[in-house]
Amino acid sequence: MDQPSSLVVCQQGHTVEYPAALDAVANAGTDLAFCRPCDCQQVHMVTLFAGDSPRVVASGDLDLYARFEATEWPERIHVDEARPFSYRELEPLDLAQFLKE
Ligand SMILES: [Zn+2]
Repeated sequence: MDQPSSLVVCQQGHTVEYPAALDAVANAGTDLAFCRPCDCQQVHMVTLFAGDSPRVVASGDLDLYARFEATEWPERIHVDEARPFSYRELEPLDLAQFLKE
């Protein structure tokens, strides 16, 4: 089983994990995004762009998650030995609405 990838998402040093296969998807040319919570009770939106490092583009409360869910970005489910992991193919032009101010 592949080790999941992890990313530090907040100033407290919490990390979120995601399937390493998503890195491969991104590097094959599909930009993608997902939302995960951390122990601060915050939700973080992470993007993976081809050839770029994963990054947190927005952090917030459950409203951020709701806004992410409300996008019409195509939802994908990665399934492996771990539990299914939901992410979306990113529409870069629609990303601006989420960017930190
Ligand atoms: Zn945190």
